[in-house]
Amino acid sequence: MYYDISPIISANSAVFPGDQPFSRAVSKTFDHADGYTLSSITTTLHIGAHADAPIHYAATGQTICQRALDYYFGTCQVIAVSTHAASLRLYPQDIASQPILAPRILFKTNSFTHDAWHDQFISLSPELIAYLASQQVRLVGIDTPSVDPADAKELVSHHALHQHDMAVLECLELSQIEPALYWLMALPLKIAGADASPVRAVLLSEPPQ
Ligand SMILES: [Zn+2]
Repeated sequence: MYYDISPIISANSAVFPGDQPFSRAVSKTFDHADGYTLSSITTTLHIGAHADAPIHYAATGQTICQRALDYYFGTCQVIAVSTHAASLRLYPQDIASQPILAPRILFKTNSFTHDAWHDQFISLSPELIAYLASQQVRLVGIDTPSVDPADAKELVSHHALHQHDMAVLECLELSQIEPALYWLMALPLKIAGADASPVRAVLLSEPPQ
């Protein structure tokens, strides 16, 4: 059994204000008797479910094609965050009742809709990332566009990820996923020099055979 946790990528996909939206241009079609379909895309790399590379938030960081792939597959835990009022960042006390059981943690916040931009989504704190690092977590994921708030002046949670050499997945679709242990597979494309890559993110109920 597998669960697709990637939102559809289309011209309707919400992207950060000012970033390059997704568009797809069709140059050949069966309708015009070309005999085949051919198309190309223009898009921010931070589209749909995606992995940020360290170069996105650190000048000397690795690009996405330099990144080790073993971050992006293996045992994974989905943690649901219940109502969170005081701050839009999550802190260790917000998940104090939830034991960390896997080296990859995905946060289900249900605080973002992937086809309409809004900036009131839940993000992470450097304190939470440091705590997860202390629990041997190597990858964090979230169902919002960023681990920092939309209006953050400094990307302190991204910097904390870099400090602890952790990987990150953003814009996951977790609304239908029960909090539990899974096996994650979410490989980035091998794009030279790139600051991020879309991934096809999937949770398996058991490790692949
Ligand atoms: Zn991103």
